[in-house]
Amino acid sequence: MIVMKFGGTSVESQEAVQRVAEIVKRYKARRPVVVVSAMGKTTNGLLQAANEAAAGRRDQALALVDELRGYHLTHGLALAGHASAELDRYIRTHFEWLDELVKGLSIVGELSPRSTDAIASTGERLSSLVVTYAFRSAGLPARHVDARRVIVTDDRFTHAQPVLEKTYARLKEEVAPLAETDIVVMGGFIGATPDGQTTTLGRGGSDYSAAIVGAGIEAEEIQIWTDVDGMLTADPRIVPGGYRVKSISFAEAAEMAYFGAKVLHPATVVPAIEKKIPVVILNSRRPEVEGTRITLQAAPCKNPVKSISSKRGITVVNIASSRMLMAHGFLRRIFEIFDRYATSVDMVSTSEVSVSLTVDNLENMHEILRELRTFAEARSEDGQAIVCLVGENIRQTPGIAGRAFSALQQTNIRMISQGASLLNLGFLVAEADLKPTVSALHDEFFSELDPAVFA
Ligand code: ADP
Ligand code: ASP
Ligand code: MG
Repeated sequence: MIVMKFGGTSVESQEAVQRVAEIVKRYKARRPVVVVSAMGKTTNGLLQAANEAAAGRRDQALALVDELRGYHLTHGLALAGHASAELDRYIRTHFEWLDELVKGLSIVGELSPRSTDAIASTGERLSSLVVTYAFRSAGLPARHVDARRVIVTDDRFTHAQPVLEKTYARLKEEVAPLAETDIVVMGGFIGATPDGQTTTLGRGGSDYSAAIVGAGIEAEEIQIWTDVDGMLTADPRIVPGGYRVKSISFAEAAEMAYFGAKVLHPATVVPAIEKKIPVVILNSRRPEVEGTRITLQAAPCKNPVKSISSKRGITVVNIASSRMLMAHGFLRRIFEIFDRYATSVDMVSTSEVSVSLTVDNLENMHEILRELRTFAEARSEDGQAIVCLVGENIRQTPGIAGRAFSALQQTNIRMISQGASLLNLGFLVAEADLKPTVSALHDEFFSELDPAVFA
């Protein structure tokens, strides 16, 4: 058995879903379980509708829902063949429910994380139905499974964590046997609490769903089908013309994802590592390209750096001890505050009298600063970006930092950090400097390529 996950762009239109059906056909003998994201930018649209409604803009919210209804009907029904009347009913029922929900929210004027998930989950609930009907009309024995019946999560709505033992048990009991004969289609991103409340795993979470499903059914491979040829040496939206990385280790991929490579959700590798299941990233528009294989051990590579990841929207918090020297327990007090507000810290650097750290979640910044200021001077600065060199060879290659610094002579580097794993070297720069920074580093580290690893 294998898991094949198709992201939003891979199922964004009638043509895209037809391509997906063709790809799945080719892998039929390996008994695929298919996990799909919401079609195109549906999740964004749903969240926007929810926010409009909660802000009391009922008509705008209903108009957004109506747009999504039209989009799903147009592409969905064209795919369903002779079963289009049945799919039409399903789609309309979901949207009637959304209409009511949006009207309710606009009266209450408030959006709870639980309602957010109820709305956001519709994208995957619908796309999985559309894809099931499309597969059937393409001659595939597709079987729809509501992911909320099998992915059991805690109740941290909008970023729920799977309860793995229960989830794996259900996948083994309910999905694996079906996959022996049928092509199971499930929505990614969504799950439910043990008492049946719909949850989501956080933005980009369908990759994570795919890995959970893969681990639960003990798949021999997890394929992440997306809109690029695989992991590239740099984010193509920042530096186009990067190279495909043919293979990368789990540890490297995790660092890449964590430091901003949107192509893979950071949690994806965890279940895969636990069960030692290889993950492959592939392009649904160019299925003949081999993609990127993520494996336990890194293949030998002559280049010290495998890829450069980057993340915008970073805030740096500078904290100085009000006494001249750092008192005992200073760091602990700082981290306790961030922990209490569930705000994770990406980069840290310390000196005798001050600590700088970076966060990407500003939800509780006001409270965090207020608490920090009870014992230290603290200020925050937005508009920063993290740029991170990733590669297992960084560890044993001397002179990497020197090369990076000479490539960045013109850049004002705000912070530097090297994780304990020594497979990354990160820099904080102003967001305005992001592109030139990544470009300069890319030129420095990828002017020569080991053909065994890069394409
Ligand atoms: P999907 O909808 O299939 O989940 P995503 O948009 O979440 O796709 O992820 C794919 C995108 O990730 C690419 O289109 C690309 O813009 C972005 N990306 C960022 N960094 C990288 C990288 N290093 N390699 C490849 N893609 C990257
Ligand atoms: N549809 C969800 C999102 O846009 C999950 C995903 O695509 O991975 O965040
Ligand atoms: Mg994604």
